[in-house]
Amino acid sequence: KQVAELIAAGEVVERPSSVIKELVENSIDSGASIVTVEIRRGGVTYIRVTDNGCGIAREDVATAFLRHATSKVREKDDLDAILTLGFRGEALASISAVSRVDLITRTADSSIGTHYSSEGGSDVEIEDAGCPLGTTITARDLFFNVPARMKFLKKDTAEGNSVAGLMDKIALSHPEISFRLIREGKEVLHTPGDGKLNSAIYAVFGKEFSGALLPVDYTLGGIRVHGYISSPIASRPNRSMQNFFINGRFVRSRTACVALEEAYKGAIMVGKFPACVLHIELPSSVVDVNVHPAKLEVRFVNERPVFDAVYHGVKSAVTASRD
Ligand code: ADP
Ligand code: MG
Repeated sequence: KQVAELIAAGEVVERPSSVIKELVENSIDSGASIVTVEIRRGGVTYIRVTDNGCGIAREDVATAFLRHATSKVREKDDLDAILTLGFRGEALASISAVSRVDLITRTADSSIGTHYSSEGGSDVEIEDAGCPLGTTITARDLFFNVPARMKFLKKDTAEGNSVAGLMDKIALSHPEISFRLIREGKEVLHTPGDGKLNSAIYAVFGKEFSGALLPVDYTLGGIRVHGYISSPIASRPNRSMQNFFINGRFVRSRTACVALEEAYKGAIMVGKFPACVLHIELPSSVVDVNVHPAKLEVRFVNERPVFDAVYHGVKSAVTASRD
């Protein structure tokens, strides 16, 4: 059982950022308006995620750590289904199998909270705890019991960078939630959670990009493209600031990148690249996508409508800025 558990865990948990992705998604699902993530040694020795969401009732706490135990009904779109395929109700079980976990949680209808702890999924203890509404989960010493996996972790800095990149993307896809990332004792991200995409962009990228934002909001063939692009004069030396979200999920799309850059042709210097934070809302009738879950690379069965919506949306914003 132990070995099977560890193998299963390996599919969900690869590195600190994959732990944080799962924990933060749980926090988002819990209705939290504030989510704080703290990491030490790039998340390898210490990960803590705190939210002010609905919490977990005492009688459900142990169950939440069992594989395939989920309280969530999933009837979201195809993309969501693909990006999370097979991982439903597995995150807490997997994370607890390969780390030392402490969870403190309280729901609104209980005055006393619950503390759950385990080491590699065993030695489970559950006791009373005084705590605020919501959930705090700490995962320490990732892969302490799976040395073979530990070897595949990169240097702490690289793991920490991966976490920071992930948090940027999550923050940009949920401007209504205030996210904080504390990395090695220093606050490196803090979004206001005021629901405005440009506030989140400002918090993530700083003045540099935010001073030169052009708004985009364009619908074509039932596909809505909205967000911000960089003005042509504020172009970048590379493509690292091109962010696309489809139905709220960060993805990589070759088609969207090409459409973006085509739309800047003639307005931007050769060898320079636009930056963007663009949300693409696709009705599920148009979605029909293929996603490589690990790489987040998305392909559409019909790329043309996506290309057209992004191209024309960006083009009209660029043109308007030059008039
Ligand atoms: P899933 O998210 O697919 O349901 P998980 O293993 O990630 O599976 O979580 C198991 C269950 O634990 C969830 O369905 C939810 O009921 C509960 N849970 C986990 N994290 C939180 C949280 N931060 N706040 C409230 N409930 C949570
Ligand atoms: Mg989950």
